[in-house]
Amino acid sequence: MKVLKFGGTSVGSPERMRHVAELITSTDAEQKFVVLSAMSGTTNSLIEISDYFYKGNSVGAYETIYRLESKYRGVIDALLSDPVSISDAHSRIANIFAELRSFSTKDFDSADEKEILSYGELMSTTLMSLYMQECGVDVVHIPALDFMRINEHDEPDMDYITEKLEDLIEQKNQEGHHPSILLTEGFICTNPEGRIDNLRRGGSDYTASIIGAVLGAEEVQIWTDISGMHNNDPRYVEGTYPVSELSFEEAAELAYFGAKILHPTCVLPAKLNNIPVRLLNTMEPEAPGTLIHNMARSEGIKAIAAKDNIVAIQIQSARRLLSHGFMNKVFETFDSHKTPIDMMATSEVSVTMAVDDNGRLDAIVEDLMRFGTVNVDYDMVIICIVGDLRWQNKGLESVVMCALSDIPIRMISYGGSNYNISVLVRACDKVEALRVLSKKLF
Ligand code: ADP
Ligand code: ASP
Ligand code: MG
Repeated sequence: MKVLKFGGTSVGSPERMRHVAELITSTDAEQKFVVLSAMSGTTNSLIEISDYFYKGNSVGAYETIYRLESKYRGVIDALLSDPVSISDAHSRIANIFAELRSFSTKDFDSADEKEILSYGELMSTTLMSLYMQECGVDVVHIPALDFMRINEHDEPDMDYITEKLEDLIEQKNQEGHHPSILLTEGFICTNPEGRIDNLRRGGSDYTASIIGAVLGAEEVQIWTDISGMHNNDPRYVEGTYPVSELSFEEAAELAYFGAKILHPTCVLPAKLNNIPVRLLNTMEPEAPGTLIHNMARSEGIKAIAAKDNIVAIQIQSARRLLSHGFMNKVFETFDSHKTPIDMMATSEVSVTMAVDDNGRLDAIVEDLMRFGTVNVDYDMVIICIVGDLRWQNKGLESVVMCALSDIPIRMISYGGSNYNISVLVRACDKVEALRVLSKKLF
């Protein structure tokens, strides 16, 4: 069994959907579990529609709904050719848009928004399964809402997912069906209240990895619009190239610190179950891409990523910093605001924490002021350099620092793991930092 996940651009047009269907059928595996994202742009449009509903602006919502529905009607006509499946597709898509419009008469809340966000993935699987059936492919739809569930901590409920998924597959087998292709929605799930929820933006990668872990897949393939994890962010740096192999630890650092190709949550289920993850390009399927696995070779510095929207919060202790209990209180403060710490540095009298600018800052600062003087630096970026950075390997950290000699560095983190050096710089220096690092390191 292989799990194949296709992202938004991979299913972004009727031509791309046809191409993906071909890729799926030609992939070599006895059974394939296919996970689809919404067509690119759809989730953003659904968020826009929800924003109008929150503001009670039904006219704005209806305009965006009309545009989105026209797009899907065009996709159906271009993708399908059998009149029966065309009419089936139109009526199913019409039902979804009727649901969408019905929210205009409600007091709109975040649970409603989550329901609306699920429509993108529901539409792409509807269209893909109709198209594949039209092509005579033996495909069975397993609705994600029937097995994917998060618990009260917003984490996947692995026991529930395993039981439900195994039952659903067994049920299909008993119906005399041993389908070679199973198809489901990425991103969407239910929650303990039984309502529709999701695995957060970009979460289809997570769906694929959870399914791979639960079913003990031979491999999870993440198909996207670029040939694997590049050694630097291709959106800002020219001449980047794919890294052939990464360990799960290296991939996790890169994904968490901004390499958008992979959702950070996706790494853990695969790693824990020793399932290789391959990053592949739908537009260039023969390219080797990147293989993430437990046996990856370690070889110097492999890649660089950048995480935006960071603030540095410095707390200067009124007494000795490392006095008993001080750090504990600081950590508890961040924890009580559900704010993870991305990076930290300490001295005898003060500590600086780098965190995501998540809208809780004022409250965090107010709480921290009980323990000392607080200073905040806004608009910062973490640059993360990943590779074989065990402390015994001499010289790599000095190459990094030399490369950045013209850029003011707010904070440095090295030695926390064997895999990375991170530096905190101003957002306005990010692109220059990525470029000089590429020039000096690769
Ligand atoms: P999908 O919609 O298929 O999930 P994403 O947009 O989430 O695709 O991820 C693919 C994009 O990630 C690429 O188009 C690329 O611009 C971006 N990206 C950022 N950093 C990297 C990197 N280091 N290597 C490859 N792609 C990256
Ligand atoms: N459609 C969702 C998003 O745009 C999930 C995904 O594509 O992974 O975030
Ligand atoms: Mg993605």
